[in-house]
Amino acid sequence: DEPLLAVDNLHVEFQTRQGVVRAVNGVSYSVDAGETLAVLGESGSGKSVTAQAIMGILDMPPARIPKGEVRFHGTDLLTMPDDARGQIRGRRIAMIFQDALSALNPVFTVGWQIGEMFRVHQGMSKRDARRKAVELMDRVRIPGAKSRVDDFPHQFSGGMRQRIMIAMAIALDPEILIADEPTTALDVTVQAQIMGLLAELQQESDMGLILITHDLGVVADVADKIAVMYGGRIVENASVFDGYRAPAHPYTKGLLESIPRVDLKGQELYAIKGMPPNLLDMPTGCAFHPRCPYRKENCVTDAPPLYTVSDTRGSACHYWREVLDDGSN
Ligand code: SF4
Ligand code: MG
Repeated sequence: DEPLLAVDNLHVEFQTRQGVVRAVNGVSYSVDAGETLAVLGESGSGKSVTAQAIMGILDMPPARIPKGEVRFHGTDLLTMPDDARGQIRGRRIAMIFQDALSALNPVFTVGWQIGEMFRVHQGMSKRDARRKAVELMDRVRIPGAKSRVDDFPHQFSGGMRQRIMIAMAIALDPEILIADEPTTALDVTVQAQIMGLLAELQQESDMGLILITHDLGVVADVADKIAVMYGGRIVENASVFDGYRAPAHPYTKGLLESIPRVDLKGQELYAIKGMPPNLLDMPTGCAFHPRCPYRKENCVTDAPPLYTVSDTRGSACHYWREVLDDGSN
């Protein structure tokens, strides 16, 4: 069965002065209607770039997509004619970008900015678009939407501005919503509220949801499955249940152990030692080897394939059995 959205063996590279940066190196993942995929990893791991490829904003130099497919309902978006994909991206596949909070225009009311989706894409009158804006502000649980539709962005808190961005993203009822670090700029309580809202909206409309984050903690409650990225590759994919109970890759294990835990207050957090890899000068063998507590000699020379751990699970670690046996904590 073809999933709603499938990224298949995607490669993305950037031409830079220092050379070719291979930002995404054979990434595959998929999401179905009503399903939430969390894509995890540090910055520079390729998770945002993969999303940008789905959205079709990497189609020109210095970016290049030498290989791979992004299939929506089974049809490759990368080779589709421009006008056909224009009908899909932003409408049937929508995205909330990382810098969402600064993306609102300070000189227009929020109602006008939300309404723009309807005026521009559906030729709606100003009056109807304003009415739709109120409806959407209600849908994203902005209190007193009717009386706030003519307010300006600076009159809203960070969390409420993020809700406005979400309202714009879901305005045209997308089948897929991609949220790139939708909560990083917000405090922990507000982060949880925004995640809760995304989960509720998804259930109301049966969207497929892709949450991109470096913070495993914020997605644990809402994700169905996880794809962990490192150095432009997927190093582990798993159901959220399996991944949290017992990771099958040392990097996932490190990410899990870096989540602040209430029950371990006062104890020092395990943070993964070392730096993310330099994409222009990738380590030999397993890219994670310079930071890996499980490293053995062959890790320095042999790049691990994505081993099959189970039907629904893969790990790019030669020693995944050992990691799995150790459990999560
Ligand atoms: Fe660590 Fe080796 Fe596994 Fe890479 S292959 S994650 S270096 S144990
Ligand atoms: Mg990013």
